[in-house]
Amino acid sequence: MLTTDFHPTGRHFLQIPGPSPVPDRVLRAMSLPTIDHRGPEFGVLGLKVLADMQKIFQTRHPVMIYPASGTGAWEAALANTLSPGDHVLMYETGHFAFLWNKLATRLGLKAEVLALSGTDNGVPASWRHGVQAHLIEERLKADTAHSIKAVCVVHNETSTGVTSNIAAVRKAIDAAKHPSLLLVDTISGLASADYRHDEWGVDVSISGSQKGLMLPPGISFNALSPKAIEASKTAKLPKAFWAWDEIIEMNKTGYWPSTPNTNLLYALSEAADMILGQGLDVVFARHQRWADGVRAAVTTWGLPIQCAENGVHSPILTGVMTPEGVDADAVRKIIYERFDCSLGTGLGKIKGRMFRIGHLGDTNDLTLIAAVAGCEMGLKLAGVKLAGSGVQTLMDYYASHPAAVPLRKAA
Ligand SMILES: *Cc1c(COP(=O)(O)O)cnc(C)c1O
Repeated sequence: MLTTDFHPTGRHFLQIPGPSPVPDRVLRAMSLPTIDHRGPEFGVLGLKVLADMQKIFQTRHPVMIYPASGTGAWEAALANTLSPGDHVLMYETGHFAFLWNKLATRLGLKAEVLALSGTDNGVPASWRHGVQAHLIEERLKADTAHSIKAVCVVHNETSTGVTSNIAAVRKAIDAAKHPSLLLVDTISGLASADYRHDEWGVDVSISGSQKGLMLPPGISFNALSPKAIEASKTAKLPKAFWAWDEIIEMNKTGYWPSTPNTNLLYALSEAADMILGQGLDVVFARHQRWADGVRAAVTTWGLPIQCAENGVHSPILTGVMTPEGVDADAVRKIIYERFDCSLGTGLGKIKGRMFRIGHLGDTNDLTLIAAVAGCEMGLKLAGVKLAGSGVQTLMDYYASHPAAVPLRKAA
């Protein structure tokens, strides 16, 4: 089958919260010829993308770039800082936190999970809220022997549409006067939601290419702190490919110990020029505004939003809960088949109960209005009674809330 068969007329609406649509500029940059990764030009590219990533993570410390998906960078963060049997404290905000926990357990760590108890509208309450920093503080205060070596949290929980307050988690660790490391998954948060590695005192930040960075899948990141680098010197989990020490050394001249993903680094350089050229604040505000509009649309439909806590709604995606008895995947199927629009499925414990609308990266108002129109038509075709037109609400919202920076200027 030819890949052209995958593309009917017009643009496919890739409204999943990652991989997100890749800008044409970035696709073109990727199509440049592959060069010698030990040659003179390569070091210039290497140093540029490493410096760009420091700006995007808002850090002055080293950033690792791996030719791997985000899952690899999860493993790298744990393998570099911890030893077999180490006690780690993880917080279950949703399916990605759950998967990271599974990975930690498979690596031989003793992973303890904190979560809110109970259910809410038939799903785990913890999957509708952000990280409750006070629960972390209480648990760390009780750990007087300091057996807990790392606290692991997900910044933007892509399975639910909740963005946790990482500064509050840092404060909780400090308030407990606990020496634990803080490891944060911002795979889908980086370059869409405000994220500050140094200011928030994160020891390892983990990210990936295919979400806010607007690249295809295939590279992922660890941003480090001096404390994390210190920990890596005595950590005993087996690591070779993921080991930071050799990478840090070779990165000083813009090279890597093994072959980096050259064409994805072209893409990264191009995407970073777009993101940093506009300014991180502009990028964050843009996502916030898109999200505010989409939430208003879902509210007009009369459907519950997966995130049930004010102040932590994700700027990257919105989780829409379908009424009891309506299979959210059946709704998605109609929208996909009839309107060529891909929406995120409900993952794990919330499968069939909700779907996700991605509003991140290379998108704009009209694309989102059309995507929400696809959802509205699909919901009606699936027999869902809607309280009102979300599309109308979204049009009104974007029309009455112009972006702070105009998109274009007419002559
Ligand atoms: C996408 C995602 C992952 C998984 O990354 P892969 O690239 O699929 O390995 C992990 N955590 C979060 C929060 C994600 O959004």
